[in-house]
Amino acid sequence: MKCDICGEEISGGSAFTCNYCGGVFCPKHRLPFNHACKNLAEWKKSGLPGKKGTKRTRMVKASAMVPFYQKKEVLIGGIIIAVFVIIIGIMVFTQ
Ligand SMILES: [Zn+2]
Ligand SMILES: [Zn+2]
Repeated sequence: MKCDICGEEISGGSAFTCNYCGGVFCPKHRLPFNHACKNLAEWKKSGLPGKKGTKRTRMVKASAMVPFYQKKEVLIGGIIIAVFVIIIGIMVFTQ
């Protein structure tokens, strides 16, 4: 697979398909303004420049954010439990 703009050889995993013109691009040219997309006006109307450029980036971002959020919650929960256990431990120990 080759980038429609620079002709760079792209492996399947890093090839991006534009939602607006259907072209195939390398990561450098995936955004509509980087490949002079024929539907650039439509992309601008979407109001989310850079976020709705390709299907793949949207999926990667969504899946990358969920585990991070869950990990953060688990970490905060663990800290709260640890503090609670320490407080109870001190109360029992000082009696
Ligand atoms: Zn390119
Ligand atoms: Zn395009």
